[in-house]
Amino acid sequence: GAASQTTSGPEPPNSPINQGRPHSARMYDYFLGGKDNYVADRQAAAKVLTLWPGVMIAARTNRAFMQRATRYLAAECGIRQFLDIGTGIPTSPNLHEVAQEVAPESRVVYVDNDPIVLAHAQTLLTSHPEGRTAYVDADVANPETILTSPDLTEVLDLSQPVALSLCALLHFVPDEWDPYAIVRRLVDTLAPGSYLVLSHITPDFDPVATQRTVEIYHNGGIKGKIRSRAEVEEFFTGLELVEPGIEVPHRWRPDLATGPQVATGDVTDEEVSFWVGVARKP
Ligand code: SAH
Repeated sequence: GAASQTTSGPEPPNSPINQGRPHSARMYDYFLGGKDNYVADRQAAAKVLTLWPGVMIAARTNRAFMQRATRYLAAECGIRQFLDIGTGIPTSPNLHEVAQEVAPESRVVYVDNDPIVLAHAQTLLTSHPEGRTAYVDADVANPETILTSPDLTEVLDLSQPVALSLCALLHFVPDEWDPYAIVRRLVDTLAPGSYLVLSHITPDFDPVATQRTVEIYHNGGIKGKIRSRAEVEEFFTGLELVEPGIEVPHRWRPDLATGPQVATGDVTDEEVSFWVGVARKP
């Protein structure tokens, strides 16, 4: 069943969670103000903070974009199925809570490859009774494993439109893994009328701070690449970007915000250093 791969409690015995080196999911959790991080994560995060003081604003602004994009797709595009890869440690509201607030029957499949996210998956399986959620423990580098997972096919009908969200994920996919082929493989499987939601760290606004940040991640054993606007736009090849196209997250449909948000007028593009976009598959 959908919950078969989940465990309860933050740290199961014999967990492959390695507390000795930083993890991207736990550093992101720290930047969002969460508690699911260890000393190694906080040490690497502290180094990033000295170089890129805006990183906590960036994390919150990215998270708020994911929530607005989800609300837009559920409320304005009629999307009822979501595939969220690189889900992260749960932070309310999670994607299914946003979608099911608009449409309780929404179905959501979460995917991450981090053992600590798996350990918290129970929080992601709190679906509205009219909808469904599932969690798949898999690596985006193996799209086939994700697309053929019984937990996914039980919850999503791939003959109908799906919103695929890859938020703050692809900067952890280095060029040698061929991220463009990975995204193409995922999008090719989706029905016409599906959407791609993407957010990605960029060096375009503050190249020194963001490149040094990459080095801190690399020194901690976390691979990846930050990408220019043109490189981010290339992920949308063959798709129709919705307004306002490729934008910084704080200027992507800020009117859709509900609840407490980072005020868009208060943040700079340098602090945020992300590109985002939402596009429809024709
Ligand atoms: N999408 C969420 C969380 C982003 S943090 C948001 O935007 O708020 C990035 C997440 O990607 C982390 O949870 C990390 O574990 C996950 N991740 C990194 N590399 C991955 C990979 N190769 N496959 C699947 N998930 C990955």
